[in-house]
Amino acid sequence: MNKLTFFITFYLILILICSPANLQTEKKKFTVIIDPGHGGKDPGTIGLSKIYEKDINLSVSLKLRNYLQNKYDDIKVVMTREKDEFIELKERGNIANKNSGDLFVSIHCNYKKKEENDKNGFEIYISDFSRLPEAEYYTKYQNPLFSTKDWDTNSLDWIEYSSLLVPVYQNIYQRWSERFASILELEMTKNTVILSRGINQEGFFVLVGASMPVVLLESGFLSNKADETYLKTEKGQEDVAKALYKSIVYYKMDYEFDKMEF
Ligand SMILES: [Zn+2]
Repeated sequence: MNKLTFFITFYLILILICSPANLQTEKKKFTVIIDPGHGGKDPGTIGLSKIYEKDINLSVSLKLRNYLQNKYDDIKVVMTREKDEFIELKERGNIANKNSGDLFVSIHCNYKKKEENDKNGFEIYISDFSRLPEAEYYTKYQNPLFSTKDWDTNSLDWIEYSSLLVPVYQNIYQRWSERFASILELEMTKNTVILSRGINQEGFFVLVGASMPVVLLESGFLSNKADETYLKTEKGQEDVAKALYKSIVYYKMDYEFDKMEF
């Protein structure tokens, strides 16, 4: 083979390898992590009628999963538990991070403290990364964007680079968590009979262990007769699942629109 033929052949092979069809990697599906609070040996709160919080959380979560899976092929749903089993909080975050979730939704029910008067309504919590020192660790070491194989996590370059980016990412997660929380508050108000007690910021471990936008819903008070009666029923659980379902769909549209290139 002479030099010219060699270069032409080499060039053609290069064009073939680098053609858009070959370079195109499969588009990552929008991934939502559904986290039914408690489970197994941990019942969560126990309602006035002795119903366990863990059972309501799981039932709402399974309904939500089914709504999403039946209607949206382009949404990947990952559950931190699908049955009555105990999963450590840390493990729930690991599951979310391993699956590169775009949104983590933790589903719970509330109970008033002993010293408090009767309370009712749903509450939404978003992460406050500044309140838990572990938050930096999780953002740095469990975020798929940081922990690529190309980086030596002991190198000075990596330490410097990740330290600069951790607050940036936490800030982005916080803003998107706020966005989802406000959509969810509206949908809960529209789709359920439970009153809103607003959106709060907390340093709950389950909220910072997942390195992505994270929202926790306390669907209602099992210490309140009206809330408990409603949340115990099929209708009540379907309503909460529908509110979550619609919020996730709206959020995904918003999130993808924001990522669109013009
Ligand atoms: Zn709970």
